[in-house]
Amino acid sequence: MNTILMGLPGAGKGTQAEKIVATFQIPHISTGDMFRAAIANKTPLGLEAQAYINKGELVPDEVTNGIVKERLSQDDTKKGFLLDGYPRTLDQAHALEKTLSDLGRHLDVVLNIEVDEQLLMDRLTGRIICRKCGATYHTLNNPPKEANVCDRCGESDFYQRDDDKPETVKNRIAINTKQSAPILDFYAEKGLLRNVDGSRDIKDVFTDIEKLLKNLPQ
Ligand code: ADP
Ligand code: AMP
Repeated sequence: MNTILMGLPGAGKGTQAEKIVATFQIPHISTGDMFRAAIANKTPLGLEAQAYINKGELVPDEVTNGIVKERLSQDDTKKGFLLDGYPRTLDQAHALEKTLSDLGRHLDVVLNIEVDEQLLMDRLTGRIICRKCGATYHTLNNPPKEANVCDRCGESDFYQRDDDKPETVKNRIAINTKQSAPILDFYAEKGLLRNVDGSRDIKDVFTDIEKLLKNLPQ
């Protein structure tokens, strides 16, 4: 199952991705997570990406296309993959077509989680992440079961992303709204796009996604 998860920042891609990869046993490939890991490890990629990310801008296409190509060339993606946060430009969508065709693969479905802008602002400004394992929570909508303890790994060290500050969030949503429209059209024309209403509870959104993925044409 070769899948792309689309949606504006805060739509719930990371939250749903955790459930999808656990259910369908495929790797989660999040370009945002890859950049954040590179920044934390102070690699050359991290140093290059950091300036763009802190301003809420996109990392240049040639850098992003390169890391995705490298990741999709690894063996664990042969049984399927879930791309999250990529492609974000038409250039990236074209680069992905080329990468997949070079690898003798194709996309099965593009899931687009739809949520309106005010809800996105509320979700992003309340988002907290476990520093140890990367699990995502929300201070009000989706707190850990036990206060200040990660459900997944048991650590008590949460942080807020630098780019989740209200001013950066506005810029990211504006940039992403403009850039995602032609990509959604691109996949709609190919008959791959499926929209999901992401404004409901986390579990209800997942119920729809699971149904959709289980009923994909073989
Ligand atoms: P994305 O990866 O699309 O940027 P996240 O999955 O990180 O989004 O979700 C953004 C924030 O919203 C997180 O704090 C998350 O816990 C919360 N969230 C995600 N999905 C929902 C939902 N359906 N209802 C309420 N809050 C949600
Ligand atoms: P995300 O975790 O998906 O919200 O991504 C966080 C930030 O990483 C974005 O605001 C961008 O600066 C950068 N980024 C992630 N994915 C991409 C991509 N496909 N193309 C360019 N920049 C990206």
